[in-house]
Amino acid sequence: MKNEHIIQVAFVGNPNCGKTTLFNALTGANLKVANWPGVTVEKKEGYTSYKGQKINLVDLPGIYSLTSYSIEEKVSRRCVMEDNIDVIVNVVDASSLERNLYLTMQLLELGKPVILAMNMMDVVKERGMEIDNHRLPEMLGHIPVVPVSARKRMGLNVLLHAVKHHYEEDVEEKVVVYSDSLEQKISSVEQRLHEKYPDLRYLRWTAVKLLEADEETLEEYSLDAPDILDRSYEKEIINQKYDYIEEVVEEVLFYKDSSKEGKTDKVDTLLTHPFWGVPVFLGIMAFVFFLTFTIGDALKGVFEVGLDMLLNGAGAFLAGLNASDWVISLVVDGVIAGVGGILTFLPNIFILFLALGILEDSGYMARVAYVMDGIMGRVGLSGKAFLPMVLGFGCTVPAVMATRTLEKEADRRRTMILTPFMSCSARLPIYVLFSSMFFPQHAAIAAFSLYVLGLLVAIVLAMILGKIKRGESAGSLLMELPEYKMPNARTIAIYVWEKVKDYLSKAGTTIFVASIVIWFILNFGIHGMVTDVQQSFGAVLGHWLEPVLAPAGLGLWQVAVALIAGLSAKEVVVSSMAVLFGISNINSAAGMTGMSTALGQFGFGAVNAYALMVFCLLYTPCMATIATIKKESNSWAFTLKLVVFQLLLAYVAAVVVFQVGSLIV
Ligand code: GDP
Ligand code: MG
Repeated sequence: MKNEHIIQVAFVGNPNCGKTTLFNALTGANLKVANWPGVTVEKKEGYTSYKGQKINLVDLPGIYSLTSYSIEEKVSRRCVMEDNIDVIVNVVDASSLERNLYLTMQLLELGKPVILAMNMMDVVKERGMEIDNHRLPEMLGHIPVVPVSARKRMGLNVLLHAVKHHYEEDVEEKVVVYSDSLEQKISSVEQRLHEKYPDLRYLRWTAVKLLEADEETLEEYSLDAPDILDRSYEKEIINQKYDYIEEVVEEVLFYKDSSKEGKTDKVDTLLTHPFWGVPVFLGIMAFVFFLTFTIGDALKGVFEVGLDMLLNGAGAFLAGLNASDWVISLVVDGVIAGVGGILTFLPNIFILFLALGILEDSGYMARVAYVMDGIMGRVGLSGKAFLPMVLGFGCTVPAVMATRTLEKEADRRRTMILTPFMSCSARLPIYVLFSSMFFPQHAAIAAFSLYVLGLLVAIVLAMILGKIKRGESAGSLLMELPEYKMPNARTIAIYVWEKVKDYLSKAGTTIFVASIVIWFILNFGIHGMVTDVQQSFGAVLGHWLEPVLAPAGLGLWQVAVALIAGLSAKEVVVSSMAVLFGISNINSAAGMTGMSTALGQFGFGAVNAYALMVFCLLYTPCMATIATIKKESNSWAFTLKLVVFQLLLAYVAAVVVFQVGSLIV
C-alpha cells in the first residue's frame, strides 16, 4: 500500500535560488528559466520517479517569507500547509545562506517534513566557500540537508532519495530560536491553542503567528488570551530569527580564500552605487543600442535587399502566370511589402534581445530595477518599469513585451500605457524630414524637442495614473539581488527564441491582415481597383477627415491618408506623403524642396509641420504595437481604450500646438 502512495512535494524558496532549474532538471519539463526575481508566478507541476516511487512536484513562486503580504506569499503559504503536500523541499541558494534561511526558519515552525536542498553548490565551490554539512542540520532540527547544483545536475538523486525516505518525518526536534521569555509565551499560546483546537496541526506556527498578530491567523484561530497576546511581538520575532540565522551562518560557513569573498559585493558597489549606478546603466544601454542599430541595421540592409528581390521576383513570377493586376498588387504591394517590411526589423529585435538576455541571465538586470527604483518611485512607478521605457526609444513592440518583468498586473498596464510615448526609431524619419524641411536652422533641436515632449507626457501621465490608482501603487521593491553568473547559452537561446517567435507570429497574423486592409483602401475605390490614389477609398476617407484635422493644421487629404497609412508603421507616414505628393526621392535636398513647396501651396508651414510631428509622436501606435499590447494585456477593452485615448490626446495636443503656434508666429 505504501508504495502506491505518490509523494507530493512542494518546492519553496526565495526568488532566483534555482527552484525552476531544479524542478526542470528533475521533471524534464521545459519551463522558462530567467533571472528576474519572481518570474514564476503561477503554480507549475511535474512528476518524476525514484526507484519505483512516483513523486509529484509543485514549483511555487519565489518568496522571501511566509507572511501574506503578496499574492505569491499567499499562494505558497496555502499550498505548503495543505494536507496533501507530504514534504516541503526548501531550495536555498547556498551561496547566500544568510538571506535564504529566513524562509527556512519559518518552514521549520510548521513542523511538517522539510528537506533543505542546498542549491548552487558549484558557485559555493567557485567562490571558495565551505559549508559544514554536519553542523547545519544540527542547528535546524536535524532535517535532511542535501547539497545540489541544479545547473550542473549534481546531487539530484540524493535529493530524491531524501524525499523518498524522509517524507513522513516531521521536524520533531524543536529548534530553540527565541529568547526564553518569548519561547515561554509561545509554549503558553500553544497550550491554549491545543485546548481550544485539539486537531490543529501547526501548533507552533500558529502560536508564533498569533504573537505576530497576523491577521489571517487571528481570524481563523481566535484565542481569548489577553494576558499572553497583549500586543504584537512581530518585531521581536523577526529580529530574533535573524539573530539565530546569524549564529547559524557563523558556525557553518567558512571561506577558504578570503580574497574571493564577496566578488559580487565588490562589483555591486559600482553597479548599484547610488550615484554612479545610473550613468553606468545608461552607458551599458547606450552600448546595447549601438549594437542593435549598427549590427542590426547592417543585417537589416541585407534583409531589405532580399525583400526587394523577393518583391521583384514575385511580381515577375505572377506576371508570368498571367495573374491579374489586382492579384499582383495584393501579393506584392500588400502582403509582401507589408509583412516583409515588418520582418526587416527582425535583426534589430534579435540583437536587442540577445544583448538583454545576456544582461538578464548574468544577474545585471535585477540591479537596474534596483538602481532606478528611487527615481521611478517618484512618479509612482516600479524600478522595473524603467527598462521597458528605455526600450521604447528603440521600438515599442519589444518594450511592451518587456513589461512582462513587472509582476503586478496594475504596474504592467500602467507601464504599457506609457511606453508608446517614448519616441521609437520609426518616428525618427518623420522628425528628421519635417524638422529639416521647416526648421532648417534648428532641425536637431526641433527633433529633440519631440523626444522630450514624449517623456514629459509620460511623466505627467504616470503621475496622474499613480494618483487615480493609489491603492495599487507600485509599493517598495523588496527584492534580493541574485549572484552574478556566467550567462547560460541555453537559457539565452530560449529567451531570444521566445521573443522572436512572438514577433513572427504577430507578423504572420495581425500585420498580415492590416497590410491587406491598408492596401485595399489605397488601391480600391467605389469603381473597383484604381490606378490613381485620388480615386481610392483612402482618398475619400482623407477628404472626409480634412475638416476634422483642419483645427490641428493638418486639413489636407494627403496628410490624412498618410496618417492612416502610418498605422501600419510610423515611418510609412513619410513614404506615403512622398507618394501622394509625387515626390520621388524624399530624402534628397531636391526631394525636400519639392515637398515643402508642394505643402507650402496649401499654406502648410512651420507651425503645421510641428503640429504634424506632435500628432505623429502621440497618436495611435503602429499595428505591431497594438497587436502586442493586445497579446500582453490579454484584453481588447484595455487595448481599444488605449488606442482611443492616444488618438484623442494627439488630436488635442496638435490642435493646441497649431492654434497657439499660429498666434505666436
Ligand atoms: P527560481 O527563481 O528559483 O525559479 O530560479 P531559476 O531556476 O529561474 O534560476 C535562476 C538563475 O540561477 C538561472 O540563471 C539559473 O540558470 C541559475 N541557476 C540555477 N541553479 C543553479 C546552480 O546550481 N548553479 C548555478 N551556477 N546557477 C544556477
Ligand atoms: Mg522560477
